[in-house]
Amino acid sequence: MVASLDHAREALRATFGFDDFRGRQAKVIERTLAGHSSLAVMPTGAGKSLTYQLPATMLQGCCIVISPLIALMHDQLRSARANGIRAATLTSADADWRETQDAYRAGELDLLYVAPERASQPAFRDFLASSPIALFAVDEAHCVSEWGHDFRPDYRMLRPLMDAFPEVPRLALTATADRQTRGDVLAQLGIPEDGLVLAGFDRPNIRYAIRHRDNPVRQIANLMAERPGPGIVYAQTRRKVEDLADKLARETGRKVLPYHAGLDPETRAANQAAFVASEDMVIVATVAFGMGIDKPDVRFVAHVGVPKSIEAYYQETGRAGRDGDPSAATMYWGAGDFATARSRLAEVDEDRRSAERARLDALAGLVETPQCRRAVLLRHFGEDPPETCGNCDNCLDAPAVTEVTELARKLLSAVYRTGQSFGMGHLQKVLTGTEDDRVRQRGHDRLSVYGIVEGEEARLLQPLGRALQARGDLVPTEHGGLALGGSAREILKGEREVAIVVPPKRQRRGRRGSDE
Ligand code: ADP
Ligand code: ZN
Repeated sequence: MVASLDHAREALRATFGFDDFRGRQAKVIERTLAGHSSLAVMPTGAGKSLTYQLPATMLQGCCIVISPLIALMHDQLRSARANGIRAATLTSADADWRETQDAYRAGELDLLYVAPERASQPAFRDFLASSPIALFAVDEAHCVSEWGHDFRPDYRMLRPLMDAFPEVPRLALTATADRQTRGDVLAQLGIPEDGLVLAGFDRPNIRYAIRHRDNPVRQIANLMAERPGPGIVYAQTRRKVEDLADKLARETGRKVLPYHAGLDPETRAANQAAFVASEDMVIVATVAFGMGIDKPDVRFVAHVGVPKSIEAYYQETGRAGRDGDPSAATMYWGAGDFATARSRLAEVDEDRRSAERARLDALAGLVETPQCRRAVLLRHFGEDPPETCGNCDNCLDAPAVTEVTELARKLLSAVYRTGQSFGMGHLQKVLTGTEDDRVRQRGHDRLSVYGIVEGEEARLLQPLGRALQARGDLVPTEHGGLALGGSAREILKGEREVAIVVPPKRQRRGRRGSDE
């Protein structure tokens, strides 16, 4: 009997008690039951596990699930068994491996979870060959790609293992895969290109906004007033978490607690529990916070500083509005965030560096775009969204794009002529011809670039400096100065045009304050 989708729906009701499939689950399951290999890219919570667990109960033989974390496997095991699925794990943490092996050989298992390290052991291949295999499911499949953010060399051994069983379909699963990672996963795991199934990354109730950070306490206090209810503020260091939590509590009179790995475990657990139970509390946290927390009524997620990648941004902002009610995701960025991230590239292994740089470039593209944020985000995940969404800052209040090629050349030549070792403040003084002791002492008032920027143009120097740093055309030096990088030389030679996004006036008039 060839199992069809109708049978699958019956099995879904009988085994899981669900009425119907969600999103692209049906498509993935249909392919799997027909013996085709697929890569399913679905956001967290979309129900990926079901796409292999259900076929596992229907197909002849056992489904081998490769999963990178023992804790994750044991969670899955519990929930599979709760649904009456015959499941086991084979990991270094399991004392019952002998029973598990016997059960597998006897054909008494629907699901067998294993760690990728097993894949490289020849004995494991022989063991698998001792009983029919229904399906190979590769969880967190982005780990196979060096483009992915979580490369695991062991995942590379999966291909030869699966190739030893060529008739067995493969199902790779991940929540995070940009175009490059996706292509790589398909190639590495031997899945045909038409096997890619992408699903619904859009979160229509989240309003995306990305602003320049000029006074984070004031900016977040405003956001808290606009979005009463629970909120998460992500900051980058423990010190910043503590500091922001303190100042926000004082500024707003609301309950604001910190969360980071440096707090003692009791305080951390207490703060997390207080947040989960609360209807109006704000938690300021490092990215350590949020994994495994299920709080549906988070009304906003704010980033003070840029996240690690678009994937990380999507995952972190995705903690807002799980109940479907209107929510906000607002990022407050500064040029220094990109400068720091780019200077860290030097410490990254050479073979990972270009992937890391591409990740930063993609993030800078999202931060700097004058287009719909949601469209940029969804396109990054391979979807084909409408041009505008009507629910992001750029759609609601279109920013102006200004051509500033000439100004960019002036700024970059000032960087060059002052010896590539001064920061934006000094460069601005030189360019606008400001009377200043330090400028005079260095003889910078005698340079040809002294005083060549005036009026309206001077106002654009700051946003231009930010944009060039975000793009990597200006890079930080060890001592806090700026040097030429990226395409700076092409811009100087007039081979490249430069345009920047100028935020709408309303936002620009905001109070000036420090960057931190
Ligand atoms: P993912 O692995 O994609 O993050 P999970 O597999 O953990 O997601 O599933 C998320 C939740 O959705 C689980 O509680 C699961 O039981 C539930 N779920 C999955 N499929 C369905 C469905 N068709 N109908 C209702 N609930 C579902
Ligand atoms: Zn939009």
